[in-house]
Amino acid sequence: MSFQLFGLPVSRGVAIGRAVLVSSSRIDVAHYFVPVADVGHEIGRLRAARNAVVDELTALQADLPDDAPAELSALLDVHLMLLNDESLELATKQWIEERCYNAEWALSAQFEVLARQFDEMEDDYLRERKADVEQVVERLLRAMARGSPALIDVAAKPAGADAHNEPLVLVANDIAPADMLHFKRTVFAGFVTDVGGTTSHTAIVARSLDIPAVVGAREGSRVIRQDDLVVIDGDAGLVIVNPSDIVLEEYRFRQRQRDVERQRLSRLRNTPAVTLDGESVEMLANIELPGDAAAAVAAGAVGVGLYRSEFLFMNRAGELPGEDEQFEAYRAVVQTMNGMPVTIRTVDVGADKPLDRMSINELRHEHALNPALGLRAIRWSLSEPAMFRQQIRAILRASAFGKVKLLVPMLAHVGEARQTLEAIARAKQQLIDAGKPFTDVEVGAMIEVPAAALVLPSLLKLFDFVSLGTNDLIQYTLAIDRGDESVAHLYDPWHPAVLQLIESVIRQARKAGKAVSVCGEMAGDAAFTEVLLAMGLRSFSMHPSQIASVKQIILRANSKRLLPLIEGAFRSDDVWVGCDRLRAAAAGRTLPELQPAA
Ligand code: PEP
Ligand code: MG
Repeated sequence: MSFQLFGLPVSRGVAIGRAVLVSSSRIDVAHYFVPVADVGHEIGRLRAARNAVVDELTALQADLPDDAPAELSALLDVHLMLLNDESLELATKQWIEERCYNAEWALSAQFEVLARQFDEMEDDYLRERKADVEQVVERLLRAMARGSPALIDVAAKPAGADAHNEPLVLVANDIAPADMLHFKRTVFAGFVTDVGGTTSHTAIVARSLDIPAVVGAREGSRVIRQDDLVVIDGDAGLVIVNPSDIVLEEYRFRQRQRDVERQRLSRLRNTPAVTLDGESVEMLANIELPGDAAAAVAAGAVGVGLYRSEFLFMNRAGELPGEDEQFEAYRAVVQTMNGMPVTIRTVDVGADKPLDRMSINELRHEHALNPALGLRAIRWSLSEPAMFRQQIRAILRASAFGKVKLLVPMLAHVGEARQTLEAIARAKQQLIDAGKPFTDVEVGAMIEVPAAALVLPSLLKLFDFVSLGTNDLIQYTLAIDRGDESVAHLYDPWHPAVLQLIESVIRQARKAGKAVSVCGEMAGDAAFTEVLLAMGLRSFSMHPSQIASVKQIILRANSKRLLPLIEGAFRSDDVWVGCDRLRAAAAGRTLPELQPAA
């Protein structure tokens, strides 16, 4: 049956593929293809896990004390019965044999199929047996994790196709930013989640990967079935399940068109970004992992404007990266950028980027009433002074290999700024004492809390440059959780309050002679390019995949075209009307003059 779902468009393009539902299992499941020659081995792993769990449960049952509740023994009986029933194993084997899925993926795929069947059962008792199957599956997954290191990681495979050469798309209730990191090396051509907002970090990572994605599709993971054919229209936020042949052909055509357009834009790679009226614009890249730096260079970025260092702190079972490990990661980026500036942001964990379950931060995080307003970013760093100095030392050491800038996230108090600068001074002294080389790095403040924007002159005295984090600035100005799809319609970058804050930060920074850039998602959104140019912005930092299309607009733009509309909007009696006009003009439309009231 064909049907459509609407969500939020977060990463452009079209993906067409078979749905892979990510199990709601509490255990991480690796997804990768095994070579045909290893299918037998994979089936062996499944069987070994089954045997191990049977032994485990049989031993448990034998050791049950005489006074143990009868229900416990009955439960173990049910679990053993499920394990001895061949249908789970046979069906799982089929996924391995026919699709070349790894054993964990095959098992969780089969569990999804069974879970649906249980959900549809009329009988309450039978429906509740789903929990038993889930527990058995989790035991099997654990047994496989003990027997193989494969579970830790999603194996490296090019994005793309299954054993039948059909691309796959991932459908999940939610994907944590840490899990999204796996996508960098995974097989999926696109994804759909039930929850999330357009600037949630999951969406940001999707954009950085340049894979089509729709979030906030609400019922998606409930109504899409394993193996359904799915079209993800990442431009419209539309998901079409089991499309008709005509619709499918239309989307295949659009995919081809997009490839052609991409190739055309890639020719702009080495063209300097200069407006028609001769204003040079700096095109910088946002990156998450050291490996992304190569994509930044390939896209023609003239530096890294935002290196989100916190991704180095994720997926490590609670261990934080040490100074040397961080130094190596930062140095790798600096060397890849080969003399171009690299702006490393100190760790910004918390809110929708929690660390792993075991870490100190996560323990606190779980108890935080409102993590977006809690101990995140610089607040967390200042509460862990040794960790913070360690990171600063690693960043400073990387400066011996190229041009490094240090960026501080989420400042709101001048006291935080001073403490940070003191920590930097101490870290420098420690390096001098240890005889480790570094050069002077510029230190910048992220302006992403309205309070910081409103006290900008004080911050400008302390910092060498500022970078506007518009994702958080919008979230905190409008009091809208950027990751919550239920209020996503109110997350409005065109809100006059947001535009006025951005304009005033750019204006004041320029007046003070300090460099200012935008590194939030607005910088890579072509709808805002001319507005930001007219506000005086000359430094944009975005995902490498967005650089060419924004550059194309810059090359065709007059940097002052929208200036009168911006000035008019902020001066007008009704800023809403003024900003609507600005928006229309930015899109190349003109709104009719309002008739005076009769
Ligand atoms: C921002 O808030 O705009 C920003 C760039 O930081 P992040 O998205 O990582 O919070
Ligand atoms: Mg931010």
